[in-house]
Order: sequence, then C-alpha cells, then structure tokens
Amino acid sequence: MPERAREPAARAGAVFDAVDVIRTKRDGGALSDAQIDWVIDAYTGGAVAEEQMSALLMAVLLRGLSEAELARWTGAMIASGERLDLSGVDRPTVDKHSTGGVGDKITLPLAPLVAAHGVAVPQLSGRGLGHTGGTLDKLEAIPGWRAALSTEEFLAQLRTVGAVVCAAGASLAPADRKLYALRDVTGTVESIPLIASSIMSKKIAEGASALVLDVKVGSGAFMKSTDDARALAAAMVSLGSAHGVRTVALLTDMSVPLGRTAGNGLEVAESVEVLAGGGPADVVELTVALAGEMLAAAGLSDVDPAAALADGRAMDVWRRMITAQGGSPDAPLPVARETSEVRALDTGVLTRLDAYAVGVAAWRLGAGRARKEDPVSAAAGVEMLAKPGDRVTAGSPLLLLHTDDPARFPRAVEALTGAIEVAPEAPARQPLVLDRIAES
Ligand code: URA
Repeated sequence: MPERAREPAARAGAVFDAVDVIRTKRDGGALSDAQIDWVIDAYTGGAVAEEQMSALLMAVLLRGLSEAELARWTGAMIASGERLDLSGVDRPTVDKHSTGGVGDKITLPLAPLVAAHGVAVPQLSGRGLGHTGGTLDKLEAIPGWRAALSTEEFLAQLRTVGAVVCAAGASLAPADRKLYALRDVTGTVESIPLIASSIMSKKIAEGASALVLDVKVGSGAFMKSTDDARALAAAMVSLGSAHGVRTVALLTDMSVPLGRTAGNGLEVAESVEVLAGGGPADVVELTVALAGEMLAAAGLSDVDPAAALADGRAMDVWRRMITAQGGSPDAPLPVARETSEVRALDTGVLTRLDAYAVGVAAWRLGAGRARKEDPVSAAAGVEMLAKPGDRVTAGSPLLLLHTDDPARFPRAVEALTGAIEVAPEAPARQPLVLDRIAES
C-alpha cells in the first residue's frame, strides 16, 4: 500500500485517517458527519486511495448506513459538484427518474405531457448499459437530435419549451462517477444505500423542487424482489425530504417489457403513437400515472393528464422539444436492414414474456452496449407482436427481431430460451403500479 494511503488528509476541515473510518463501519459503528464529509471529499480529490474506498464500500454493503448517515453521505456527494439553480425558471420544476427497465420509454411522452400543463421538466439522463436502454440513446435515433447542451441552453429551453432531456454534465455529483465505477468492479453495486445515494445525489443536484421516482421491480429491473424495491424507494423518498426535494415513488412491474417495443428507434416510434393519443395501454397507463404524480407535486392535483395526449397539446411540446435540440420530428426513423420472426410453439394464451430475456435479445441485436464507449444501433430491437394475456396459435409470430447485422439473430434467439410460455388459460393480471411510497 502506498505511504500516502495512511496519511490523514484535511480537505474538508476535519482530519481523519481513512483506516479508522473503514474500521468504524467494518465493526458496525456509525460514521460521524465529519467523517462522511471528509471521506467523500478526500476520495473525490484523490487523497483517499481506491483500495481504501473499496474497503469502505464493502463495509457499507455489509453493515448498511443509518438514515442519518445516508442523508449525510448523499449530501457530501451533492457537495462534490455543483447544484443547479433553477430559480430563474418562472414555473414549478418537477423531475422524474426511473430505475430502468426493458422497453421503458416513458420519459419521451411524459416530459412533454407534463410541460404541456405549464410545469417545467428538467431531465438530465444517461445512456443505456447492459439489458436496459438509455433515454439519450433512444432520442439519438431521431435525425439531428443532440444530447449535449450547455447550462445556458438547458436553462433557456426550460424557460421557452418547458421540457429538456439532455446529457448530465460532469459537474453534477462528480463523486458519484468515481464511486459508481469503483462499485462496478468491487461487487458493491447492489447495496441499497449506495444505489439510493448514487441516484439521489444526481437528481437533487439537478435542482428541481419535486421528484417522482419510478422504482421498477421484476426480472427486467435492478430490483428483482418487491421488498428490495420498496426499501430502495423508501430510502430515496426519505433522502429527497432530507434535502428539501418533495419526492414520491411508484413501484411498478418490470417482469414483462413495457409496451410493444424494446430498442431505440422502435421506442421513439411507439412514444410518438402515445403522444398522438394511441399507443399500447400499459405505456399510456404509466405515463398518465407518473404525469398525475408530477402535476400533483406541482400543485395541480385536479388535472387529467390523459386529455393532453388526446387533444395534441403534449405532441406540440414534443415537437418543440425535439426541434430545440436540433432534431427533426418529422424525419423518418432508422429502419433495420433485416428482420426475423420468433413464432409460438403452442396454441393458447401467452402467459409469460420475460422482460430480462427480451432486454438481452434487444441488446444482442445491437440496441444496447456492453461497455460505455460502445456505439448502439438506432434501428435494432425487439417488436412484441403479442403480450401476456393475448391469445396465440401455434406457428403465429410472437416477436419480430430487428437488426442491421443478421449474424446477431442466433444469439438473440438464444437469449429468449425459456422466456416465453403459452398456457391454456390466461393468468390473473398483475397490476402495473404495485405501490406508492411517499413521506408519511
Ligand atoms: N443508477 C444509478 O445512477 N446508480 C446506481 O447505483 C444504480 C442505478
């Protein structure tokens, strides 16, 4: 271990020894506010070594953080960078975050729908990694659309259009970027306090006055069990309150993909259908449920958001939002060179279409990336011609796989092994919105 690793650093005022901080958490003790402030600041600045933070993260994964420790830890992550000031936006600001799922294109219709009611939606988003897609990758399927905006452009668009979806700059919660990369290689991604602080530090730093969380649960989600999803949601709601951001979470089902498409351009096309007053019922239901929560958080609880989908107001904002970022809302979306059908083996009711398997299939067709620097295909993905509850007959097409590279088909089909079930009877329908968690 390098000599400097045992040297105390004094960047945030107090001086600590990283090994003492690690031992405190390792032995199940509570970290003091000053220890937390110091260790996050010193790690971000390079004075705490990677191996020391690795040990501390593992101690946190095994021992947890109390509510007070978690609030302070998150505060220290926010303080590692800038917190946007949205006070110059002359309307309420409400943001939304989804923990990620397969076919989750909800931000696309949701942001313009909420903005159509005079509420500003500042949405700093990420790119997809692994089997879940990223909102920026989806929007980049639109010819000309650009994700990178300066802070001035971001604020100007919030004032004029009311909705912005763009890439988060490096200045928001830089501690998270380092911590997330370290968690990825140290088996500490799964810790609920570390996930909650990672998400909420970035969201709180974005400066919105209220936040609605879509915490997904099921095979296609980060959280596979309802208990874990509920614990994550509760931790994030309480962090929002601790930092002055009114936060509500919906727990939503991700055992089946959302809508009928998974893949960047395919999901944009489906979102435009929703904005035109059509689209799959589950996408509409979740968009309207989240919009209702966002509008209520802005003081508009007696509004029916569905009306603005039906009468074109949300579509108008969408067109302005895309145009403001260089995109052509009327340009044709990329179309894959090749398609291949996956057919039903039996006759009956489709009872299972596993979200994780569909996400992996879309990824293998080219819609997702394995490493963050990989390119994605705008045209690749999976179109679901049947969803659970639909009657199917043996030999009828269930899925249409899209790719530019037909060599990708076999591995995509392999991902779907065991993911599809057909039975004589339809199962009881699971609700899409499983629970709502707010500060009591
Ligand atoms: N998303 C994040 O931003 N951080 C996590 O830790 C998990 C999901």
